[in-house]
This record gives sequence, structure tokens and C-alpha cells, in this order.
Amino acid sequence: MNPSILPSMATVPRPAFRQTKIVATLGPASTSAKVLKGMIEAGLDVVRINASHGNHQQDAETIQRVRSVSQEVGQPIGILYDLQGPKIRLADFSGDPIEVEAGDEIRLAVGRPAETGEIGSDYDLLDQDLSAGDPILIDDGIIALKTISVSKGLVVARAENSGVIYPRKGINLPGSQISAPAFTEKDQEDAFFAASQNVDFLALSFVRQASDVQQLKDLLSSNGTSIPIIPKIEKARAVDEVSQILQNSWGAMVARGDLGVEIPPQQVPIIQKQIIAEGLRLGRPIITATQMLDSMTRNPRPTRAETSDVANAVLDGTDAVMLSSETAIGNYPVESVQMMADVITYTEQNSGATQYPRRRERSLESTPEAVTDAACQVAHHVDAHALVAFTQSGSTAYLAASRRPKRPILAFTTRPEVRDRLTMVWGVRPYQIRQVSMTDQLIEELDATLQADGLASRGDLLVLLLGAPTHRMGRTNLILVYQVGTWSGLDGHQDDEDE
Ligand code: PEP
Repeated sequence: MNPSILPSMATVPRPAFRQTKIVATLGPASTSAKVLKGMIEAGLDVVRINASHGNHQQDAETIQRVRSVSQEVGQPIGILYDLQGPKIRLADFSGDPIEVEAGDEIRLAVGRPAETGEIGSDYDLLDQDLSAGDPILIDDGIIALKTISVSKGLVVARAENSGVIYPRKGINLPGSQISAPAFTEKDQEDAFFAASQNVDFLALSFVRQASDVQQLKDLLSSNGTSIPIIPKIEKARAVDEVSQILQNSWGAMVARGDLGVEIPPQQVPIIQKQIIAEGLRLGRPIITATQMLDSMTRNPRPTRAETSDVANAVLDGTDAVMLSSETAIGNYPVESVQMMADVITYTEQNSGATQYPRRRERSLESTPEAVTDAACQVAHHVDAHALVAFTQSGSTAYLAASRRPKRPILAFTTRPEVRDRLTMVWGVRPYQIRQVSMTDQLIEELDATLQADGLASRGDLLVLLLGAPTHRMGRTNLILVYQVGTWSGLDGHQDDEDE
């Protein structure tokens, strides 16, 4: 087979190489081709589609549009489908929002239609899971209730502050054990839909323990598929079990919106740092999410506290930062992505001594891991322009990224799904190549492509991670240091003489 590199995906001009990735939630403000294109050009890496809103037909159209705009712009974009999990919500009551005063008695109908003076919910086990004295938080804690009494079909609670209750708002029960299964019927239907659409990642909401992730994996495998799973860490129990959860997952999301309601908000920053550190230790990508540039939902410029929040997540070592309402329903979706990219780039380029060196705890139990670790050190010693990972499964690129090298990791893979998953990984720029059988030809083509795309210039030093023979997966066993534009074969002079 004549080896050649597929058309370049690197046609988008980017201001500087950015290591921390950007995830943007799609919604009415951002599903048009025009806004998607603007966001991609501003630096978007991954889109999140929230299964809590919309329907399968709309979501399929959105996925199709993302793929076609990504193709048009010439940049791979990962697709994250976010399963709702056992999120409890108020019923969709008709009529006006309900105004409550602190001290008011609120009556919640359970497992039956609400009567006059009552509010319904979509969770039929409220009367089992709550006891007198337990807190009930509505709408991310905007209204706090305290349970007064519980009887079959009715929970009576006292409002602790004044405010307005809107239909379909979320309910959190931070003091209670939820008996609802971690994985609902809706999640099952949504997971099969996501698999049929070949999405790149599945997020799972309100995970409590590692077995919740396993349940989703088993379901997918019974359907003959496998999708990387990103559990959302937003419950106290998941925080306690984060290490086991991460070991059973592709990565995780610090879902600070619900997390800051389920536990006291002052604990969120330290928990964020702990989860990111554990992700780095285990080599699992972590997304830091929610309210990062929240005021940009309404305003063209963020608050200083918000830019600090994005910068601090970068300094913590997160793989990706996420936009939610800013891009889903906000007035400035493109500007929000641009602002996030600018804050990340500036922080990465100027953090100096404030950026702690972080690297995965070394187990070095496999040849690919030992070779990748050594390549990162070689790249540092020779001050290489970039690391180049040829990777079938993506694992060499993950291994290199988890060592947080100070230079780009250019990942070349034959598999489009691997290329698209690598969009989420810190420091990695993924490209697709055709299957080749000869290492020499692979490097020759790589050399030409890098120069043609302006990713490297003649004379730049690159450190390559390769597996030989080329067709075997998971066999990274070669490090090659070479100068762009000077390639003459693995046996160099010998080839020249043969000609
Ligand atoms: C969160 O709670 O922070 C989150 C990301 O989840 P959702 O947007 O689904 O509430």
C-alpha cells in the first residue's frame, strides 16, 4: 500500500499552541452552523450535548451539523453526550411560578398528581428517602426547604428563605441516601441513541460509586459497543470514592454546579484540586465544569473572579475547562470560547514558577509506559520542538500527556474515533493517517506533512514515539530523535548506496 497522510486537519490558525482543552455545551444559542464555526475558530475542542434537554431527533441533527462544520473548518471536534442520571426535578406545573416567603409551608405531592396548593415532582420515592429535619434544595439551592413531616404520598417542608419556584427545576437532597437507581430507563435509551450516533464520550450524572460506571459499561457491551465514560463527580459519596471511580473510567468531570449544592460550596475548590491531582496520578483526563465565565451568559466581558477561576483550573492541571449556559443559552457564545482560550493561553505561557511540575506517578510496568516516559525526558534534554506519538489506540498520547511535557504532543492515528477522543486530552493535537506497513515511509510522510502544515520547519528537532512493526497495537518500543527535513531512512546512508 502506498502510505500517505490524509488531508491536514491543521488549517485553523490558532494564536499559540494551547494545552488545556475547551468544552462548550450546545443549546439554542449555539447549534447553528454559523455559531459552531465561530466557536471552533475561537478555539473549541469538544462539544457537550445535554440529554436532559432536547430529543433524539434534534440531537442527531446537532451531531450531524457539528461533524459537517468540523469537516468544513478542518478541525476534529469531540462529541460528549451527557446522560441525565437520577436528577430529580419538580413537575412541569402549569400557571405562574410560585412565590414563597421564608417560613411558608410547602407541600410536595409524591407519586401522584399534585392537588391545589401542592407541587409535584418526577421522583416517586421522595417519601421514602426523606425524614423530618432533612434539607431539600430547589433550583441549585436558590430555595432551601427543611422537611417537617413525611407521610405516604406527601412531604411537608418549611421554606428557609424567600424566592420564586419555577417548574422543572432540579431538586437536591444533600442529607439523604437516594434509592433511585444510578442509571434510569431514560439514561438507557439515551446511551443506546448515543452509541448509534458514534459519540466520542458519554458523561454520567450523579454517579455514586465505581459500580455505577460499570453498569453503564456492561449495558453498552451487551449492545456490542464501548464508549469512553466520564462520570460527573457531584455527590459527596462520589468524592469519597473518586479514586475507585476514576480507575474504572476514561476520565471524570468536576461538576461544580450540583457538587456545590450537594456539599457546602466552600469545599468545592479544594475538592476540585484533589480530583485533578488524582486524575493526574492515575492518568485520567479531568474536565473542570460550570459557571467558569457565568456572567458572559449576559455580558460581553467576564468578571475578574471568573478569569481567575479559569486560570486556577489551568494551574491545577485540569485537562479541559467547560462552558455551560455561556454557550448553551448565552448572548456571547463565540466570545466566551475566545475569552476562555485567551485566559488559558496567557496562563500557560506566563505561569512560570507558579505552575507546579506534575506528572503521573510512575509505575513503568509496561514497555510503552517506560519508553514514553523516557521520550518526554529526551524531548526536554534536546529541547525538542514537539513530541510525535504514532498511536493506534491513543494510549501513547495519553501516557505522554499525563507526564505534562512542556511541548506539544502531535498524535498520529489511523482511527478517526481515536483522533476525536484525543481532542479532550491536555497538550495533544490529533491527526489521522492511513495505515502503513513501513516505518521509513511513515516518517517520510510525517516529515512532509509537518512542513506543509507549518507545524514544524526544516531543522526543528522532533522526538518520535513509534511501535515497530507498525501494524501492532500497544507496542510503543522506539524513540527516534530527528531533524525535520533531513530524513533519509532508518538505515540512512545504506539506502542511498543501494539506489
Ligand atoms: C454540574 O452540575 O456542574 C453539571 C455539569 O451538570 P448539569 O449541567 O447537567 O447540571
